[in-house]
Amino acid sequence: MDHFSSRHDGLYAEDVPLRRIADAVGTPLYIYSAATLRRHYDILADEFKNRDALIAFAVKALSNIAVLALLGRRGAGADIVSGGELYRALKAGIPAERVVFSGVAKSRGEMEAALNAGILQFNVESEAELAHLSAVASALGKTAPVALRVNPDVDAGTDTRISTGRKDDKFGVPFADAGRLYRLAAALPGLRPQGLTVHIGSQITSVAPFERAAARVGGLVTSLRAEGHEVTHLDLGGGLGIPYERAAAAPPLPVDYAATLNRATADLNVRLILEPGRLIAGNAGLFVTRIVLTKNQEGTHYALVDGAMNDLIRPALYGARHEVMEDTPPTGVPVHHHIAGPVCESTDLFAKDVPLHEVSAGALLAFRTAGAYGAVQASQYNTRPLVPEVLVDGDRFTVIRRRPTYEEMLSLEVIPDDF
Ligand SMILES: *Cc1c(COP(=O)(O)O)cnc(C)c1O
Repeated sequence: MDHFSSRHDGLYAEDVPLRRIADAVGTPLYIYSAATLRRHYDILADEFKNRDALIAFAVKALSNIAVLALLGRRGAGADIVSGGELYRALKAGIPAERVVFSGVAKSRGEMEAALNAGILQFNVESEAELAHLSAVASALGKTAPVALRVNPDVDAGTDTRISTGRKDDKFGVPFADAGRLYRLAAALPGLRPQGLTVHIGSQITSVAPFERAAARVGGLVTSLRAEGHEVTHLDLGGGLGIPYERAAAAPPLPVDYAATLNRATADLNVRLILEPGRLIAGNAGLFVTRIVLTKNQEGTHYALVDGAMNDLIRPALYGARHEVMEDTPPTGVPVHHHIAGPVCESTDLFAKDVPLHEVSAGALLAFRTAGAYGAVQASQYNTRPLVPEVLVDGDRFTVIRRRPTYEEMLSLEVIPDDF
């Protein structure tokens, strides 16, 4: 459920006409709905209100500091994967004690920054990383709170490009090594093991894999405690899928997902951490572009738009499909068009055979479900300016990242003096 709608006079984001924003900011651009972000966070938070639980938003899904601040003020923490994301989360006012640091290859500098900030937890993914973190923390005279990321060897049944919990994926330590490595973490200087973490993939469309992973890691909590270890935190990662197309099978409802996790961990007496990204941000964003011109290529109609794969790469990268909405209220018989951008790559193709009613130059098109893994993956390929982001809240909108000028885009580049 989102707060974007089609009304008699065009598309709206909450109470603001899309056309008004597009005219003011220019296209292409991303538009986020504050009400949708709040709603998605609140639905999940509500399901865990009787638990000691932290919802640490996966910053990599949508990292604009306005969005992080909005979620942080409601109590969200941050799941970060880089020093840059740590910087963002702290800038957005999310307290360090609500930050968990994931990722397979954290650098020394990133570890130091996170130790100095005093984050809640390092999610450690290998024996080598335990040794590295131990050395870095010891040198600073600090103790790093550690959760061991275990690979539960659960196939999430999702696209292989976004699956992370099978035993040959690069993530986590093998389930069979978890006990030994937890003992090692307890023995190494500068480390304090406090829990376990799993994250089995993204865009997962059934609760069964989550249930299996939670059961496996829950069993590990019990056996580690039996060995005398303290296990106070259990981080179940993110990964719940969302509906991208009306026709596709609906993923589980957040309440059903939450009930499953609650049930699987009810008796464990742990502080629960969740790391949702897509679930919170996905449906809260639109990617908006304008038709530049149309072209009939040997019988294939193309609507060529001003947005491109550098702005929204999901269709090119994962074959993702985003439902298209027309700003103009549909009248007459639609004509099927391929929608493509101006970038010099054949993969710069957003969608095929989309029925469009209005294909005149300047008409607006909105791609739904573009809030997660959209703007964050944008680049300046073809020296196209980084796509702007707008946050709508009721009848107001704010440009939360403006379009850079060409001068700004080149400001980091230098021509050597003598050649
Ligand atoms: C990407 C990622 C997430 C968020 O995944 P979603 O599918 O967006 O919920 C959470 N935790 C980790 C470790 C991740 O890598």
